[in-house]
Amino acid sequence: MKIYEQTELDFKDVLVKPKRSFINSRSEVEVTREYKFKWCPRRIVGTGIIAANMATVGTFEIARHMIQSKMFCCLHKHYPVDDLIKFITENDCRDYVFLSMGLRDEDYEKIETILTQYPDKCRNICIDVPNAYIPRVKDLVVKMREKFPDILLMVGNAVTAELVEDLILSGADIVKCGIGSGSACITRRITGVGRPQLSTIFECADTAHGIGGMICSDGGVVYIGDVCKAFGAGADFVMMGGFYAGCPQAAGDVIEKQFITNQVDENGNQIIETKKFKIFYGMSSEYAQNKHYHGMPKYRASEGRVVEIPLKDSIDKLNQDILGGLRSYMTYIGARRLKDVSKCTTFYRVNTQLNTVFGE
Ligand code: 5GP
Repeated sequence: MKIYEQTELDFKDVLVKPKRSFINSRSEVEVTREYKFKWCPRRIVGTGIIAANMATVGTFEIARHMIQSKMFCCLHKHYPVDDLIKFITENDCRDYVFLSMGLRDEDYEKIETILTQYPDKCRNICIDVPNAYIPRVKDLVVKMREKFPDILLMVGNAVTAELVEDLILSGADIVKCGIGSGSACITRRITGVGRPQLSTIFECADTAHGIGGMICSDGGVVYIGDVCKAFGAGADFVMMGGFYAGCPQAAGDVIEKQFITNQVDENGNQIIETKKFKIFYGMSSEYAQNKHYHGMPKYRASEGRVVEIPLKDSIDKLNQDILGGLRSYMTYIGARRLKDVSKCTTFYRVNTQLNTVFGE
């Protein structure tokens, strides 16, 4: 048994120090950057926000909106190959869309078909396994890089320097980092495994950047300020699931619920309010296993939850809010370009992040 004594930090444990800035207006900052990768020869200009490859968020509809904002979408792995081909041939997916694969043979066959038959359409691939520490993940990275040397390859999930280094040196351009931080995740509760997201970013970004790689912070964004903190800590990309799951463009049925308010109408009857919700579920939940596979195998326990999210604004408004927050952040810290954000960031460790007198 061993214990690391240093305190590990999450987004909520820090605030960011404002600094003297020569930027007069939020309109003067550049929220996109040019991404150059270790292995993939392509360069991409974008804002490193990625919609997660969860079934209700990593969808064609969400992808179309993300592309418009020069943001990314990681499509979920459950689309049949014909649907993916139709989508990538009808939309400009080259830069901003990732195709996901797990370790199953049918995932590999699907991706191989697309990469070989449609070589100029979509060559961004995400190998997504909740636990990238198992050896088959690295083997797949090596195989993909050998077979398709020019692809942009993201792989995850990891939370420590040694695996980040190993995966990048094996052929990954981007390592997806985060275990147990997701909003629909209960891994920490049922296994005790995980690492606070900010410390994960510090360590993994430092290691990745040292060898020409990049990281994507995956999970745990509660507020838009957390996106800013993730970039500030060194993340090149920030992936979000729950944040988008309540918008009307996300997949999933809308359910209506009625609530009795404490107000009365002119006839003295209590006013009933109707609220709309979207169903959102973790991809390792029993619900997801039943929906997308053949039920939950006996050797597994559910590591995800099902939640009802109050219907939110449209995705375009959410993305506008993210960019607004990011621009303001960059103005506060004096970073003119997205690429400079982490150099300009200094964190305060805090005991209290928000004033919650009137709610969060
Ligand atoms: P969020 O932005 O909702 O906080 O986190 C999204 C991330 O949570 C996803 O990209 C994925 O890495 C993770 N995630 C999604 N579903 C599950 C699940 O069922 N269990 C666990 N452990 N993580 C999940």
